[in-house]
Amino acid sequence: MTTSLLSEEELLLRNTVREFSDQVLAPRAAKHDELEEFPHDNFRDIADLGLLGLMVNEEYGGAGGTTKQVAIVSEEIARGCAATSLIYIVHLTLCTHFISHYGNESQKNKYVPDLVSGKKIGAFALTEPGAGSDAAAIQTTAVPANGHLVLNGTKTYISNSPDAGVIVTLATHDRNLGYKGIDAIIVDGDSDGKTVNKLQGKMGIRASTVGEVVFNNCHVPSTNLINEDNLGFRQTMEVLNASRISIAAQSVGIAQASLEAAVDYAKNRSAFGGPLSDKQAIQNMIADIATDTEAARQLVMHSASLKDAGLSYHTEASMAKLFASTTAMKAAHTALQIHGGAGYFSPIPVERYFRDARVTEIYEGTSEIQRMVIARNLLKN
Ligand SMILES: Cc1cc2nc3c(=O)[nH]c(=O)nc-3n(C[C@H](O)[C@H](O)[C@H](O)COP(=O)(O)OP(=O)(O)OC[C@H]3O[C@@H](n4cnc5c(N)ncnc54)[C@H](O)[C@@H]3O)c2cc1C
Repeated sequence: MTTSLLSEEELLLRNTVREFSDQVLAPRAAKHDELEEFPHDNFRDIADLGLLGLMVNEEYGGAGGTTKQVAIVSEEIARGCAATSLIYIVHLTLCTHFISHYGNESQKNKYVPDLVSGKKIGAFALTEPGAGSDAAAIQTTAVPANGHLVLNGTKTYISNSPDAGVIVTLATHDRNLGYKGIDAIIVDGDSDGKTVNKLQGKMGIRASTVGEVVFNNCHVPSTNLINEDNLGFRQTMEVLNASRISIAAQSVGIAQASLEAAVDYAKNRSAFGGPLSDKQAIQNMIADIATDTEAARQLVMHSASLKDAGLSYHTEASMAKLFASTTAMKAAHTALQIHGGAGYFSPIPVERYFRDARVTEIYEGTSEIQRMVIARNLLKN
């Protein structure tokens, strides 16, 4: 990363997390990928570094901080282990931040400290079998009854859910109201009437556990309703817009890891009497992915800085997510090509980077949805 754009504090944070990622996360990544199990050791270590408290007020155990800092951390974690970066992003930017930004005092006091310390793992349940990109079409209901909300319905592809102690869940109190009927509700991991079926067989980010969450007359105290005045959907979109910057940063991390692997291999592999790095075709590939990776990083930093300055950032966040995820895919593809046959086999890291990169074009808004958002914002006036 171009160091001159970072403040001293940001540089210190980046270097600390980079060292942790190189020395701790990267060496464990292949094993966690193979086992397809939640990396509790990584999560514990991230909590111990205080990274689960970024952008959370100190009174709830947080460390304060900025969107830019969360992006720096997300990139560096992803450089070592993309699956762990997804776990981190979902836990922090979708679950913890939802409650710490929009929850009332008693919800914040009850839930945020355990999320910041890592005692509880957070998840965020929006997607359903019949509603992904079209988020306002969710069918899960949350109907008030005797001081409770009664949840019925099914959520799918919910990251962290098999291991989560807290799930911010989106459900409607009246399907006829469309998006205005959607509420955000805190569901405890051990709630009766909630079951999680772990989904297996993911292509990439395999250490990030994903589940189908089924609510069958699941009773949640009414006091766990986060929003008031039918604002649940609007709050959800705002949280997703911000989290998109972190997913873009994750994509930059995968691209950077791919670039570094490509450079290293090209310097050390010989063909036709000299290193691959002497061949112009290989140099061009490396120049292209290095340029795209840096451009993606600048889009991430720009959108994060706009948000931190309180300026409009939604279009730029979508641009960052669109470009960075495309770049991650391209960089992993190119790095694997430079490795030749060796790149096609695990545990060579580029094989994993290639599988990990693909999903960045799908979750938290597909590339088609990002284009739709960008165009809509440009054409609206
Ligand atoms: C590994 C993984 C982890 C995930 N984690 C979570 C999570 O923690 N929480 C959560 O709530 N969700 C999660 N998701 C769900 C994810 O956000 C959705 O998969 C994504 O939003 C796309 O929704 P969909 O799969 O229903 O695809 P669909 O919405 O059915 O889209 C299918 C295709 O149609 C395209 N398309 C749809 N609408 C349009 C349109 N209007 N114009 C043009 N093209 C369109 C899409 O771009 C896509 O290519 C996760 C998904 C994956 C794969």
